Amino acid sequence: MKKHNYSAGPCILPQEVFEKSAQAILNFNDSGLSILEISHRSKDFVAVMDEARSLALELLGLEGKGYQALFLAGGASLEFLMVPYNLMKEGGKAAYLDSGTWASGAIKEAKFFGETVVVASSKEENYNHIPKGYTVPADADYFHCTSNNTIFGTQIKEFPSLDMPIVCDMSSDIFSRVLDFTKFDIIYAGAQKNMGPAGTTLVIVKEEILGKSGRTIPSILDYEKHIKAESMYNTPAVFPVYASLLTLQWLKNLGGVAAVEKLNNAKAALLYGEIDRNPLFKGAAAVEDRSNMNATFLLNDTAHTEAFDTMWKAAGISGLPGHRSVGGYRASMYNALPIESVQVLVDVMKALETKV
Ligand code: PLP
Repeated sequence: MKKHNYSAGPCILPQEVFEKSAQAILNFNDSGLSILEISHRSKDFVAVMDEARSLALELLGLEGKGYQALFLAGGASLEFLMVPYNLMKEGGKAAYLDSGTWASGAIKEAKFFGETVVVASSKEENYNHIPKGYTVPADADYFHCTSNNTIFGTQIKEFPSLDMPIVCDMSSDIFSRVLDFTKFDIIYAGAQKNMGPAGTTLVIVKEEILGKSGRTIPSILDYEKHIKAESMYNTPAVFPVYASLLTLQWLKNLGGVAAVEKLNNAKAALLYGEIDRNPLFKGAAAVEDRSNMNATFLLNDTAHTEAFDTMWKAAGISGLPGHRSVGGYRASMYNALPIESVQVLVDVMKALETKV
């Protein structure tokens, strides 16, 4: 039996992506070669890379608007330093919103490059909400935020409008909801949540903001070099890029980001509805900032932990324990998780209520 996979990432992907990937590992495009052994310079793979790059932009409504999509290595974590390397001027400064562990990881790397202003932080409250009402210094070279805090289960609902480049780590909610993506100048996301297997990072860059830092940037860390090389400056992660393309095609066939957003809203409403209704549970994040991707919740009485854990495991659920810094549970409801899986979890929560 296939599990109801609530893992925070790597995580569930559409079933057809597994099937088509398996076929491509055996015989890619009827070439008699596996996707694992073809050259990244082969016509067939160049076509994969080109389509993945253009489809990513198309799904976000960014085609023909001065943006380039890249599939890079090093995870979202490498972008923590590529962003300041490419955007922060010598002697300049950058502004960061500290909304969680990953945001704070980005801040740590930016400090290697220059003055890093933390405009607001919710660290003191264990990142249980998105800080609001902050001011961004007008002379910052860019503003960086994290749209969805995977560990704490909070999500930014409204982004500031600023007169400077806005950079957003969308690792855990890219392609999950409709936003005006033209607000952002750099969007980056590790593939391993809504896009594909681990091993590649989608980086979307508005070209006009590059080349202004005055820094000499090592080639592998230079966005302009990657753009010039059409995302083939070095050997790309061939298989993760291919599987990402399959996921993006699946999303397009589903009706795109607007269609999946409706499903994501329905899943989140179902689970949060039960968390709020069931007297045994409580949500971990501020209600107005709750993430539609990662729902964090706790048992009001930890005496029920053993019973609940036994029940959800018996129902075929996996990946539910919360991150150690929050405890409790985290239900990651990425794009590919069917609402039926959410219903299974809700039924277990109801059954616990009846039992205790
Ligand atoms: N940013 C966010 C929001 C994340 O959730 C993660 C990983 O879960 C990262 C960054 C780090 O990504 P990577 O492991 O690809 O470096």
